[in-house]
Order: sequence, then structure tokens, then C-alpha cells
Amino acid sequence: MYSNKIQKLIDLFSRFPGIGPKVAGRFVFYLAKLTDKEVKELANAILEVKNSLRPCGFCFKLFEPSEAQSNLCEICSDNSRDRTILGVVEKEADLVSIEKNKPHKGIYFILGETPSSFKQENMKSLKVKELKQRIEKAKAFGVAADFKEIILALNPTIGGEAATLYLERELKDLNKKITRLGRGLPSGGELEYADRETILSAFKNRK
Ligand SMILES: [Zn+2]
Repeated sequence: MYSNKIQKLIDLFSRFPGIGPKVAGRFVFYLAKLTDKEVKELANAILEVKNSLRPCGFCFKLFEPSEAQSNLCEICSDNSRDRTILGVVEKEADLVSIEKNKPHKGIYFILGETPSSFKQENMKSLKVKELKQRIEKAKAFGVAADFKEIILALNPTIGGEAATLYLERELKDLNKKITRLGRGLPSGGELEYADRETILSAFKNRK
């Protein structure tokens, strides 16, 4: 139906999280209406983000390395954070939403987006091995931390619930206090879109 070039761009946009072919098509036709200058600006902004950001050596949050060439993001390198508490989140947007509301004084680990089903083999895409390594040997990853509590701050979605159960089993042998967020987040909801009250109560009532 569309020309190959249009279809290719639609396919590329469709790979974005939460973007289906319909919305991808709208992006493409929006782009087609832009001037050359505007398209170049957009392309350059994408390249700049890609070239200037890298994942934190501890938590995997993307950050802009400073001149000091630190391997750690601004949260992991902040000495005022409580390094006895580790909050495990699925994605950067959840972390940002939590940070905005400040219910968590510890540091984070970004696990990766959870699969949409309960199947165990789907858990392979999550950074479980990396998480264990950081709990056991935080110093080897540049953070002087001794975790007493691991908060599984995953989303109350099917995938998030499955991953929480999976992690509870996987982390059991590390002998740490493992908690999960309290009720309040609507089932199927995501931290990314939760309001302040909901986030504060979910952390406060963790168990
Ligand atoms: Zn970090």
C-alpha cells in the first residue's frame, strides 16, 4: 500500500515501545511535512543523544559522562544516597517517576522491561545475573554499598508480577531482606504514570 521507503520508516517507528503501526504512520506523514532544516535538527538531536549518553556501570541508567569521565551516573555517584537500600526497577522511565516523588533514598538497578507473560524462558532478557553480581560485589562496580534491603519496585503488570516472583526465588540465597511495593498501584498500571500519592504509599507500605 505504501511505497517501500515509507513502509521502512513505519516499520522502524513501530519498534519503539508503545508505538503501533498506526501511530508510526502518523509520525512518518508528520516528518514528510517538515522542512529539510527541521528534519536535520531532529536527526542530529537523535545522534547527539546516542553519542553523548552511556549506561551507568552500576545501575544501567543512561547518563552524560562528565569531564571526570566517571563510569557512574549522578545517582550512583551521589554520596548522600543510602547505599543499604537497592531499588530494582524495570525501566528508566519508572526510575524518573520515582525520583520525582522522592520516596526512595537508596540507589537503583534497572532490570529491563518485563515480558508480557509468565513463561520462565522469557525472564532471560532481564539482567538478573548482573543484579546478583551488584548485590554481592557492589564495590567491584564502583559503588561502596552494603545492601540490607532489596526493593523489587516492578510494575503490577503480568510481566512485573512474574518477574517479582522469579526474583524472590533467584535472590533468596543472598540472604537479604527482599521487599515489594505495597498496594496502591492499580493492577496493570505502571510506575511511570502513577501519581505522587500512589508512589509514596507504594514505597511506604512495602512488605
Ligand atoms: Zn547508576
